[in-house]
Amino acid sequence: MPAPAKTSTFDRFSLPDLGGHFGPYGGVFVPETLMTALQELGAAYDVARQDPVFLKELRHHLKEFAGRPTELYFAERLTQHCGGAKIYLKREDLLHTGAHKINNALGQALLARRMGKKRIIAETGAGQHGVATAAVCAKFGLKCVVYMGAVDMERQGLNVLRMRLMGAEVRSVEAGQKTLKEAINEAMRDWVTNVRETHYILGSALGSHPYPMMVRDFHRVIGQETKEQILAREGRLPDEMVACVGGGSNAIGFFFEFLEDTSVKLTGVEAGGRGIRRGDHAARFEGGKLGVLQGCKTYILQNPDGQIELTHSVSAGLDYAAIGPEHAFYRDRQRINFAYATDDDVLEAFQTCSRLEGIIPALESTHALVYGLKRAREMKKDQILVINLSGRGDKDVDQVAKILGGKVG
Ligand SMILES: *Cc1c(COP(=O)(O)O)cnc(C)c1O
Repeated sequence: MPAPAKTSTFDRFSLPDLGGHFGPYGGVFVPETLMTALQELGAAYDVARQDPVFLKELRHHLKEFAGRPTELYFAERLTQHCGGAKIYLKREDLLHTGAHKINNALGQALLARRMGKKRIIAETGAGQHGVATAAVCAKFGLKCVVYMGAVDMERQGLNVLRMRLMGAEVRSVEAGQKTLKEAINEAMRDWVTNVRETHYILGSALGSHPYPMMVRDFHRVIGQETKEQILAREGRLPDEMVACVGGGSNAIGFFFEFLEDTSVKLTGVEAGGRGIRRGDHAARFEGGKLGVLQGCKTYILQNPDGQIELTHSVSAGLDYAAIGPEHAFYRDRQRINFAYATDDDVLEAFQTCSRLEGIIPALESTHALVYGLKRAREMKKDQILVINLSGRGDKDVDQVAKILGGKVG
């Protein structure tokens, strides 16, 4: 399919096309047995997103259950520390269950209920998406099965307990690397088998159409609030916005409202791990190539034979070989820039933010902080930088203490 004509503005609402393409990226790559389910989901979502009753219900639960709107917080001491641009943090870490993931889990659970599906499945890596899904399933009385790699279950024991406490069944996946990729395979296998009564709540702006679009839409509220809040506070748009990018859901939700405001620089930060060497990182735009993984055509870390590379990041939530297709599209258009942060720099910024602001950021979100703090130093004092703090770091405290050998603080 031909790439859309280049225009000076970005018509963010024209994407994706009906087949789920963002230019050459995205699409639908699934077994025949799932085509009907995806079409049914796409049709149901298309009606729901234009239905004022659905949207009102979603807004209600986002407020009452999830705790929206979240604050746009002026980080005074981080600003002083850097000595440049004014730094604001969008506080998604304050949401119920601790990260932005609840926005999407709520939206999809409401959609599943509308579609008459009584059983929910999900995959989870670090466990944050599993916890958000377990919470909404408990709230709406839906049966919940979460697939999680055996290695991740061991690393994220607390989240496994949280899910079980809220009534979810957590199924251990023993295949391959025993992490997120294998958990997604297992969830897709379950969906093929139980598709009639089951909805699959996918946790990032990834997979086959309509997921990348639908997950993005459920997170757009982040950017919508940010725009209102910064205009009320500063009377103008920010100069730059920064978010971390795993699959890309918090970033695209944060950026979407600003895509056509070309004075606002948008930067996504990937996981640089131990450095940009094969197997040591998860920065898909540093050495990744076009390919298909788990339903979606996009940039993927793979070897010359097309085998998926091992990935590494200190933050489990960014440790995945593929990036959301919409990010690849806007990177080609030079509308979203990409950078990466290494584990070492992340561990330092994790402590800096905790010490200076009294806010313990998720290791994922800290990738955005690393780049944001560096940029703030380079920017002028009258400039404004907004960082999306996608989640809180309580879940990471144990891991960081272990890595630092007890030398926290
Ligand atoms: C899961 C997670 C991410 C990464 O997912 P995206 O889809 O890229 O947003 C980032 N931050 C936190 C706190 C997460 O839990």
